[in-house]
Amino acid sequence: MKKRVLTVVMAGLLGAGLAACGSSSSTSASTEAAATTEAAAATTEAAAATTEAAATTEAASESASVDLSQSKYLSDGVMTVGLNATFPPFEYVGDGTDTFDDITANEGNVTGFDVAMMNEIGKRIGVSVEIEDMDFDGIIPALGSKIDVAATGMTITDERKESVNFSDPYYDATQSVLVKADSTIATEDDLKNCSAIGVQGGTTGETIARGINDAATVSVKSFNQAVADLVNGKNDAVILDQVPAEAFAESYSGQIKALDGSQLNFDVEQYGIAMPKDDEVMLDAINGALSDMKADGTYDSLVEQYISNYSAE
Ligand code: GLN
Repeated sequence: MKKRVLTVVMAGLLGAGLAACGSSSSTSASTEAAATTEAAAATTEAAAATTEAAATTEAASESASVDLSQSKYLSDGVMTVGLNATFPPFEYVGDGTDTFDDITANEGNVTGFDVAMMNEIGKRIGVSVEIEDMDFDGIIPALGSKIDVAATGMTITDERKESVNFSDPYYDATQSVLVKADSTIATEDDLKNCSAIGVQGGTTGETIARGINDAATVSVKSFNQAVADLVNGKNDAVILDQVPAEAFAESYSGQIKALDGSQLNFDVEQYGIAMPKDDEVMLDAINGALSDMKADGTYDSLVEQYISNYSAE
């Protein structure tokens, strides 16, 4: 896309009667242009041409292609995506059979809906994608340094919005509760009497658990750990998002069960892709790709493939 911008600018310079060298290299064209006395004399004209060229570039980037040359984090052509891969079916460690043609680095064979969504967004905005699996509570602090975006079933909250930009919402969610298969825990009140409620650190589930029973809240680094602690009897319950709760219940079928989150008094949540605040170009590009994917049916087919048809390994 950088190339396209330069070409348009060069066309503008040629149109203004500056050095017309017909070279395919815009760098040498502008060097030559700068070297001529004519160019120096035609400053006003050149400025006008540049303004015109900028307008043309803007119009061009609004159509099919995306101009990321002004994106602080994506102009290098790589989008590093941070996530925590203990959140099936959105992100989890797969067996390596799922392949994503736009993902160039994915050390842990991470797969799931968010991975497929970011692969598709990467293709549409013209960047390659790298996956970085990390602790959930380290993801927001890493935005803008270790990672460019976060796609990890992250709920859009006012508090997070103070430090990050969120894409348009892409998935509605609610929190749920995982309990032992034979547990009598069924309501929020029952959780007040629990001695150990497992959560993943930094999640909205943790906020809810602390609101209900702070003393009993046990915060660990991953949902895999919190769920294992439930299966082994260390926890009485785990608070986490409904769809992942059902995925874990399937993995540990007969041992744990997911309560129906809509029967509990938890707020509706929405997932968004999180980004550093200082890159509006990236925000627009990602929102554009997301809305195109929704409009042309790609989004729904990924939901179908990765969420509706998910089956625990
Ligand atoms: N939706 C929850 C949150 O944003 C959990 C996300 C996750 O653990 N990946 O806090």
